[in-house]
Amino acid sequence: MKTTEHIDIRCPRTLAEALRLQADERTRGTLLAGGTDLMVQWASGVPTPVRATSVWNLPEISAIEVCADCLEIGAGVTHAFLVDCTQVHRHLPALAAAAATVGAAQIQARGTLGGNAANASPAGDTAPALLVTGGSVVLASVSGTREVPLDRFWTAYRRIDARPDEIIVAFRLPKKGKAQERFRKIGTRRAQAISKVMAASRILVEKGRIQSVAIALGSIAPTPVRLSEVEALLAGQKPTPALIDEAEKLAQASVRPIADIRSTAEYRRWASGRLVRAALENL
Ligand SMILES: Cc1cc2nc3c(=O)[nH]c(=O)nc-3n(C[C@H](O)[C@H](O)[C@H](O)COP(=O)(O)OP(=O)(O)OC[C@H]3O[C@@H](n4cnc5c(N)ncnc54)[C@H](O)[C@@H]3O)c2cc1C
Repeated sequence: MKTTEHIDIRCPRTLAEALRLQADERTRGTLLAGGTDLMVQWASGVPTPVRATSVWNLPEISAIEVCADCLEIGAGVTHAFLVDCTQVHRHLPALAAAAATVGAAQIQARGTLGGNAANASPAGDTAPALLVTGGSVVLASVSGTREVPLDRFWTAYRRIDARPDEIIVAFRLPKKGKAQERFRKIGTRRAQAISKVMAASRILVEKGRIQSVAIALGSIAPTPVRLSEVEALLAGQKPTPALIDEAEKLAQASVRPIADIRSTAEYRRWASGRLVRAALENL
């Protein structure tokens, strides 16, 4: 096992200081938040960096702001904070539910939303819940900030749309309003399990019809994905048992599941349909 003794870890006190460090190749380091992904990767021999820049506890990225239409959640907010926050439960319940399934209490106390998203594992629990909000990621550098829609943020397996000098500062997530959100994770057991497949949904039914619908899956493809074909089938329709049957079959036909140590492609295909059904029943 490798150790981190030889890593030069800088601990800036402000976001501006962190951005200055990242702007210069001579001082730039691997960003370190809670360390719950990085420490495991470093210990298992993934190329260990010479330098790391800690963004843990930076005040500018560690709070939740409740705006008129959205919640702006700092990248340094921990899963435990999300689970405890009544505003997150009220406006983004799928995200609260997803955060509650990350590891166990110790990991939730240390792991951050920004770290989960930036790690870009297809099995990152918060990704589908972030995707169904239709929100965006806010990135900062010394040159300013830019916003990337979440559906373009994960570009490939373990790749995100972020430059080496940028830090994720926040997630701008529209509130659900009158829509219903659900989150389901299928793993080997209920705690400390990485998912085989998971789904988040945000669906608004008014006057008996589906007015808006977003369904996203994780652990199914190299990146978290929205089920756009299923969404198109459902939009504007009455959520009848026949439509739900059709949506389940279309989900199973449209996914391109991965196979790995956690599950087979066949199981993931079958489970994807069942999760879509669970998102639609009793709306
Ligand atoms: C025992 C155990 C169980 C786990 N269980 C789960 C689970 O059930 N579900 C799950 O999804 N994950 C799980 N994880 C993984 C991990 O806990 C989460 O992904 C966590 O959210 C990572 O956050 P962190 O702050 O610790 O990230 P770190 O490890 O500090 O960083 C992770 C990555 O994000 C980058 N990064 C961090 N912050 C920023 C930022 N602000 N801007 C840009 N890049 C940034 C880092 O450079 C690094 O590449 C588990 C880990 C362990 C050790």
